[in-house]
Amino acid sequence: MTAQIIDGKAIAKECRKALKGRVKEFSEQYGHAPGLGVILVGEDPASAVYVRNKEKACARAGIASFHHDLPITATQEQVAKIIDEMNADSRVHGILLQLPLPKGLDEQAMLARIHPDKDADGFHPINAGYLAVGKDGYVPCTPKGVMTLIASTGQPIEGAHAVVIGRSNIVGKPQAQLLLQKNATVTICHSRTKNLAEVVGLGDIVVAAVGRPEMVKGEWIKKGAVVIDVGINRRDDGTLCGDVEFETAKERAGWITPVPGGVGPMTIAMLLENTLEGAIRAATR
Ligand code: NDP
Repeated sequence: MTAQIIDGKAIAKECRKALKGRVKEFSEQYGHAPGLGVILVGEDPASAVYVRNKEKACARAGIASFHHDLPITATQEQVAKIIDEMNADSRVHGILLQLPLPKGLDEQAMLARIHPDKDADGFHPINAGYLAVGKDGYVPCTPKGVMTLIASTGQPIEGAHAVVIGRSNIVGKPQAQLLLQKNATVTICHSRTKNLAEVVGLGDIVVAAVGRPEMVKGEWIKKGAVVIDVGINRRDDGTLCGDVEFETAKERAGWITPVPGGVGPMTIAMLLENTLEGAIRAATR
């Protein structure tokens, strides 16, 4: 059996199209566009590309973006000052602090400085807590996008065994919470997990968020499983690949995301959605 490919690019395009309509309605009703504040510290080329792509996507959706660059030498106080300004700026409804921050800056402290109501990335401890207790808050963009991709397969989440590989605050943990909310039986794996192959083999749904090229072998995958590959890795020859060995996994999985063109495009679409949600909350508070 060859898996159906989950076309994240096409699904994200649909999401952005629907969102553009909702942004237009919002802007007409309230007389201003939703706004995303973007803070980039340092000169990491990958971060600069991500930020540029996010801003382009904002412009296409009718969302205003307010960009602030800081040098690699920026101090914690300088970053905090920009965050405070954006927290106070009524044109900004979501704040994106591009990670990773340069060494020496306290990432957790800076993320916690963003007002929880403007936490478009959903990384603030208050929003992480809301997710854990099942209360409405911002949900991190990548796991939120993954849920849409899983839903697109039409496979039930309730009662399914979902195996999440990775336990970061950005992907693995919120992913597990979201799957749990949908009544999956969730197993979280990490670098100390024993018998990873066997555990992965139990998954009706497998979400890999590790950051190691093709470490999840195709032969581990349960036949017919939904496989979502969050990883973005560069091979020695410069080409991109995920955390899952795609060519072999697609022969066992029922559905699988490619890399690139799977989860990546959804992350940006969900950032736009979170920004609109922030604007709606601010307007209706
Ligand atoms: P982190 O490095 O923060 O977390 C990686 C996780 O993988 C950790 O929990 C770690 O375990 C676990 N891990 C490491 N080695 C192994 C192993 N041998 N077996 C099992 N688990 C292991 O990464 P992120 O969560 O931030 O990102 C993961 C990947 O997803 C990266 O490739 C990143 O580029 C990509 N990504 C893609 C996005 C997109 O939009 N498509 C967005 C965000 C991330 P432990 O906790 O024990 O160290």
